[in-house]
Amino acid sequence: MVAFYRIQGDKSIMKNLITPDGNTIWLLGERGQVRLSYPIPRGFVSDLFGWRLSTETTSTIQYNLQSGLTKQGLALEVKGQHVLANVGYIPEYQLITLNSHPTGKLFHTWIERMQPVAAIFALFLLAALFAYRVALQISSKISDARLKAEGNVHKLSKAIEQSPNSVVITDNNWSIEYANSHFDLANAKPNARDEAKGHNIIDYPPYTVLTNEIDKISNEISTSGNWFGERKTGHDGKWYSFSISHITNPNDKITHYVTVVQDISGRKQAEAELFKQANFDPLTGLPNRRRTNQNLTKELQTAWKDKKKVAVLYLDIDNFKNVNDTFGHMVGDQLLQLVAARLLKSCKGKAKICHISGDEFLVYATYSDKKEVTKLADQILKDVETPVLIEGKQIFISVSIGISRYPEDNNDVVGLIKFADIALFESKKYGRNCFSFFNHDLDRRLKRKHAIESELRTALQHNEIQMVYQSKNDVNTGQIIGFEALMRWKSSVLGPVSPVEFIEIAEEIGVISALGEFALHQACNDLIEFQKFSDRMLRMAVNLSIRQLNDDSVIDMVSNAINETGVDPSTLELEITESLLAENINKLLPRLEKLLELGTSLTIDDFGTGYSSLSYLTTFPVSTLKVDRAFVKDMVFNNNDATLTRTIISMAHALKMKVVAEGIEDRDQLAMLQEYGCDIGQGYLFSKPIPRSEVITLIETENLPTTVGFRTK
Ligand code: C2E
Ligand code: MG
Ligand code: MG
Repeated sequence: MVAFYRIQGDKSIMKNLITPDGNTIWLLGERGQVRLSYPIPRGFVSDLFGWRLSTETTSTIQYNLQSGLTKQGLALEVKGQHVLANVGYIPEYQLITLNSHPTGKLFHTWIERMQPVAAIFALFLLAALFAYRVALQISSKISDARLKAEGNVHKLSKAIEQSPNSVVITDNNWSIEYANSHFDLANAKPNARDEAKGHNIIDYPPYTVLTNEIDKISNEISTSGNWFGERKTGHDGKWYSFSISHITNPNDKITHYVTVVQDISGRKQAEAELFKQANFDPLTGLPNRRRTNQNLTKELQTAWKDKKKVAVLYLDIDNFKNVNDTFGHMVGDQLLQLVAARLLKSCKGKAKICHISGDEFLVYATYSDKKEVTKLADQILKDVETPVLIEGKQIFISVSIGISRYPEDNNDVVGLIKFADIALFESKKYGRNCFSFFNHDLDRRLKRKHAIESELRTALQHNEIQMVYQSKNDVNTGQIIGFEALMRWKSSVLGPVSPVEFIEIAEEIGVISALGEFALHQACNDLIEFQKFSDRMLRMAVNLSIRQLNDDSVIDMVSNAINETGVDPSTLELEITESLLAENINKLLPRLEKLLELGTSLTIDDFGTGYSSLSYLTTFPVSTLKVDRAFVKDMVFNNNDATLTRTIISMAHALKMKVVAEGIEDRDQLAMLQEYGCDIGQGYLFSKPIPRSEVITLIETENLPTTVGFRTK
C-alpha cells in the first residue's frame, strides 16, 4: 500500500502509470503475484491476492524489465483479457508496476483521441481528394490538349504530305530539311525527294528558277516575313507560283524557310485565254477597242515625251451592210478578215491596226510631217480597193477614212477617236472611198446635229413646226398657179432651224413620217382654204422625203390626207428629190404608181443635181421637172448652166412634162427662162415662202403684173 501511495505521490510515476482512460495499475510480486490493483478489475474482488499472472506473462514482463523495455506497450494476457501495458520495477519493494489498458478499449480510446486528428485528416483527405480531382481534370485536359495537338500535328503532316503543292522546309541557308511528296513538281530527277535532304533547294527544278534572286528573296523575307512570286521555268516551260515564309526562334532569328510551290500553268493558260478574249477580236485577231485604248494611250505618252505627233485613222468599210445582206454573214466575216490582212500589209512597219467593231478599224501612227499621214491613208485606200473573189463572187470593196491628229486636234484617246469618227462621217458624206482630216468646224457641226436631234423629237408636240407657202407662178403671165408647202421649225431652244438641216436628221432619227404627215395634212387643209379666195384651181406641192417612200405606209398616209381633208387629189403634187429617187427607182416604182393611182401627180425636185442619165425619166411616171436653183442662179452669166437649163426644158417638153424653174430672184433670169420656154417659175422674185395668213392676202391682192417682163395673155 505504501508503495502504492508512493507511486501515486510520485508525479512522474503517476504521470506514467495513472491515466483516466480506463487503465488498470497493478503492483505485482516478482513472480507475478498480484499485490494491488487500481481500480480493482471486475471479478478480482474476492480472490485478488491469491491470484497471480500466468508464468508466461510474468516471464514476458521479466524479460522486458531486464531488457529495459519498460514503456513499449507490452501485449499481455491478464486474466483472459488482452491488454497493452507499460511495466516498471520498484526495487526497494521488489514490486513490478504494470499500467495496463485493454486492447479493445485501447482502440476505442485511440479513436477518441484521434477524433480531432481524424477530422483534420478527413479534411486533409477531402482536400487531397479535391486536389486530386482537380489535378486529374487538369491532367486530363493537358492530356486532351496534348492528344489534340498530336492529332493536329498528325493531320497537318498528313495534309502537307498529301498537298498537291510542293512544300519544302529548309534551314536558313536554304538547305532542305523536309520535302513533301510533291517536291519534284517539275519531274526533274527520279527520287529527287529522297536524296534532297541536306542539299540546297535551288539545286532542284523548278526551284532553280529562283537562283539569281535567292539573296534578294532572303532579304525581303527578313523584312516582310514572306515572299511571293510567279515564275516560268526554262526547264519545262511551265509556270509556278512560289510562296515562301520564315520560321523564327523565340529570339526572332530566322531558323527555317517554308517554301510552297504550285504548278499554275493551267491557270496561266486560262488567264492568257481570257486576256485574248478581252483584248483581241476573235475574227481578225487584231487588238480590240479596249486594247486599242490602252495601246494608244501609251503611244500618246511616248509621243508626248519624244515631242512627236500621232495620227489616228478611223476606217469604215463602205457599204459593208450590203455585203452582209447580199452574200450573208459568212462572206461578210471573210471580207473583214481580208480587209484586216490588207491593212496589215499597208501598215507594216508604219502603223498599228486594231479592229474596233463590226466593219470599223483603227490605225494609228507616229509621224512628223502631215504628208506621211496622207501617204498612209492613200496607201490604205489603194490596197483595200482591189476587188476580191469570195466564194466565187467578185466583191468590190473600199473604205472611208477619218483622220484626227495629236496634239493638233486633241490630247487624249477618247477625243482623238471621236474626232477621227467625225472626220469619217465627213468622208462618208462626200462620196466614200476617201479620207478626211478632222477640223473643229466638223465638231461644231456634229454638236449642232446632236442638239437638233434631241430637240426635233418633241418639236411637233411643242407646236414648233409650221408650214409656209411659196407661190409657183406662170412664167409668162406671172399668175399664181399654186404653192409649194415648206416646213418651218422655230425651236424654243435653238431658234429657227432650216429644213435643209433638220429634214435629213429627221430622216435619220425616224421622225420624218410624223413630220411629213403633219405637212401633208396642213398643206391640204390650207389649199382648200386658199382655193376659196381664187377663181383658179390652185395647186399644192408637198415635198416627200425619200425615207417616207421606203414603205407602203406612205400610200395610206396620202390617201388618208386626201380623204380626211377632202382635197381634190388632182391639185396635189408630190415633190421627190431627184438624186435619191434615181438611185432607188426600181424599188420605188410600184409605190409611186400607187400614189399616182390616188390621183396625185409627181414632180422631180432639184433636177440636174443627181443622176446624170436622163433615160430613167422615160420609165418614171412624172409630170413635172423642177430645175434646181443652182442652174437658175448662174444661168445669166454661166453659159453651161444656161445651156443645161435649156436642154432640160426642151427634153422635158419632149417627154410631155412641164418644167418649173426654182430660185428665180431677178428679171434677167425670168427673161431667159421665158425665152427657153419654161412653164412655171418659183422664187423670191414672185414671193418668198410666207405663212398661211399672208398667202390669202397675196391671193386677194394678186394683180396681174403689168410691169415689164410678163406678157399678158
Ligand atoms: P426644195 O423643195 O427644193 O425647196 C425649195 C427651197 O428653195 C426652199 O428652201 C425655198 O425657201 C428655197 N427658195 C425658193 N425660192 C428661192 C430663191 O429665189 N432664192 C433662194 N436662195 N432660195 C429659194 P427651204 O424652205 O429652206 O427648203 C429647203 C429644202 O427642205 C426643200 O428644198 C426641201 O427639199 C426640204 N423641205 C422643206 N420643207 C419640206 C417638207 O415639208 N417635207 C420635206 N420632205 N422636205 C422639205
Ligand atoms: Mg421642193
Ligand atoms: Mg428644190
